[in-house]
Amino acid sequence: MYNKFLKYYLIVILFSSYLFSAKITNDFWKKGLTFEKYLKKHKISKDIINLLDKDDAQLISEINDNRRFYEMIASNGILLQTLIPIGEELQIHLFRTPKGYKVEILPVAYQKDTYLALLSIEKTPYKDIVKKIKNRQLANEFTKVLKHSVNFRSIQKGDRLAIVYDQKMRLGQPIDIPDIKVAMIETHNKKYYVFKHSDGKYYDNNGTELIKKYMGKPLRHIRVTSPFTYRRYHPVLHRYKAHLGTDFGAKRGTPILAVANGKVIYSGKMGGYGNVIKIKHEDNYISLYAHQSRLKAKKGEIVIKGQVIGYVGSTGRSTGPHLHFGLYKNGRAINPMRMVKFSSKGLLGEDKKSFLRRKRIYTKIINKIFNENRPSYIWNTVQKRLVSPKKKKYYKKLGW
Ligand SMILES: [Zn+2]
Repeated sequence: MYNKFLKYYLIVILFSSYLFSAKITNDFWKKGLTFEKYLKKHKISKDIINLLDKDDAQLISEINDNRRFYEMIASNGILLQTLIPIGEELQIHLFRTPKGYKVEILPVAYQKDTYLALLSIEKTPYKDIVKKIKNRQLANEFTKVLKHSVNFRSIQKGDRLAIVYDQKMRLGQPIDIPDIKVAMIETHNKKYYVFKHSDGKYYDNNGTELIKKYMGKPLRHIRVTSPFTYRRYHPVLHRYKAHLGTDFGAKRGTPILAVANGKVIYSGKMGGYGNVIKIKHEDNYISLYAHQSRLKAKKGEIVIKGQVIGYVGSTGRSTGPHLHFGLYKNGRAINPMRMVKFSSKGLLGEDKKSFLRRKRIYTKIINKIFNENRPSYIWNTVQKRLVSPKKKKYYKKLGW
């Protein structure tokens, strides 16, 4: 573990070193560019991908366009190193060694802080968040999670809002979408709250779920063989492994179903994922169905929820017939199980109790600060926050 981190920091040092005669550039990854094509452009054999294990080989296909990647090129034009982000917390590290190029998957170094922001609204929640917190993604997310609970048109100057959120920072810049835990608007003397529970879903004050539009199942019978995980430290391999989708075991030839209405935006081979279909749905969701034996739906085709789009197989880097099902929201891989409805039960029993407990603590903190009637401000990093030891206990209870 320490070796990996050491290695990573060395890369950062190299990348930020101006003494080096190499040139460091960063640019946005071009649409349609694959890692294989990128290797070809630099005259590097794609055999280096075959040396990766199957999970890492699949992650190579997760490269997204429009994300910033870093290159270090020697003065003679030879590529020395490249860092390409994949998913949220990992990156592909391609580097030159005396024995040729190598490729590995590394964790992205970042700092995650919890923030509590309180604003007095001057124009609109969106404009004020952008102006005062300087985080456009946060403004987007805030508007989205509250849009079904508050009538934004009725908000007036002087109304107040509160947000508790986690934000990943890298080199002083926010990276990726903030994770909102609590969002609240106080308007016409009434507070409208939205809370995120440990299941990743948003609930209102009473524990009623806010997203009601679920997707269907990608197979008629579901059997999970490998769950979704962003970044998990593998105790045996001593490195990070990610799996940006859910694997379902099924026989070869089992029909694969579109989880929602949408348009097929990809139907073909895709590296370690083998035969893949990608469908674009409304609200910026994209679903991905990998390792298919046969693709049925064609690119550009409009499909409806439950329609057969292809058949289970074992193409690409796969050890046996199964469906790798991925789900992306705004280009970011999310746990598909959160959006697919498997049972109809809401929050019950212990789950409901723990939700109500968290909710009580959050509301108590927010109310307390609201009553202090201070101007707009943001708190971050709980440990560094100037709060009395008594108050610190509140934050501890929240698991901050
Ligand atoms: Zn998989």
